[in-house]
Amino acid sequence: MSGEPPATPAPQRPPRQEREPAGTEVTEIAPGVLRTQLPVHLPGIGHVNCYLLTDERGVAVVDPGLPSPASFAALEQRLRSAGYAVEDVHTAVITHSHFDHFGGAERLRILAGAEILTHESFRPVWESTEVAEEAELPTADEESADEGRPPWFSLRRNPWGTEREPLTEMEWRTWQEIARDDPRWFATPRPTRTVTDTQVVRLARREWLCLHTPGHTEDHLCLFDPEYGLILSGDHVLPTITPHISGLTPHTDPLARFFDSLERMDGIEGVTTVLPAHGHPFDDLSGRAKAIRRHHEHRLDIIRNAAEELRSGTVPQYMQRLFSERSWGNMAESETFAHLEHLRVLGELAATRHDGQTVFSPA
Ligand SMILES: [Zn+2]
Repeated sequence: MSGEPPATPAPQRPPRQEREPAGTEVTEIAPGVLRTQLPVHLPGIGHVNCYLLTDERGVAVVDPGLPSPASFAALEQRLRSAGYAVEDVHTAVITHSHFDHFGGAERLRILAGAEILTHESFRPVWESTEVAEEAELPTADEESADEGRPPWFSLRRNPWGTEREPLTEMEWRTWQEIARDDPRWFATPRPTRTVTDTQVVRLARREWLCLHTPGHTEDHLCLFDPEYGLILSGDHVLPTITPHISGLTPHTDPLARFFDSLERMDGIEGVTTVLPAHGHPFDDLSGRAKAIRRHHEHRLDIIRNAAEELRSGTVPQYMQRLFSERSWGNMAESETFAHLEHLRVLGELAATRHDGQTVFSPA
């Protein structure tokens, strides 16, 4: 035996509930509020919670899953277990414009005549007009080569100057599997009913307060039921992972918007159960919102230290300080950029352009 001290055990991370594969059971959370899960195969995500809100008119479905036929078949099965048919769906509520949340909505509109309810700012996040001006979009020629691919695959260059990494073989296969029958299902649906912040909607025989919670996406919507203390939190507050904050947005400082939306969770009185879009229901909304905020504050500190050391660094250089190597790539770069921009807006960092790349330095 050597005299070396034993290695310090790695800190125990809670298991990532959001990774769990979709179960087939239907669980009653409160009168008229049922939790079901639909399958999702995305990095770090194994299911999306699809909540069924039942009333005298039938059922409203919150986040009807991916656009794939397999996901829709699962939704049909869950509805059946709950005693409903697709035709009974009168409303598809979409918490935000990501395809694992809105995917089934268009089918529900066509097959059941369902309303599609979203926040008024709902729109395709990756629509070309949403991407900051400096981003390089494909030419018309290249665009036809992209036929049948979701639009965000087409972005060639990030606004901060780096080339976007092409799809990996696995991502391409996943995409083909999801969109096998018709990639048009990936088109972001057009809402038929939009709501504004603090508007009240009636679902599951009671009134829900609409809360606009921008950050993860600009159009993110949560719904709060003061009677039972339930909050449908979408991806805004998840139990064991933090939602991706994208730097690819025309809004300045999306991280600040996310912080404001997290802080808002503190002021909601009487929350008994948080119903997230991934992972298990939980009760401590304010505690979880604070923990997510701390996670980002920690990351901002890492960037502050890196800026002192690097003096001037590109987005990929900062990304390498923030993320472990297996996470490097488009999403990590984008989230790093959102953090750098936050510190720039706070006046702590300055951004300049150098050889076509945005470079951040201590101000
Ligand atoms: Zn999600």
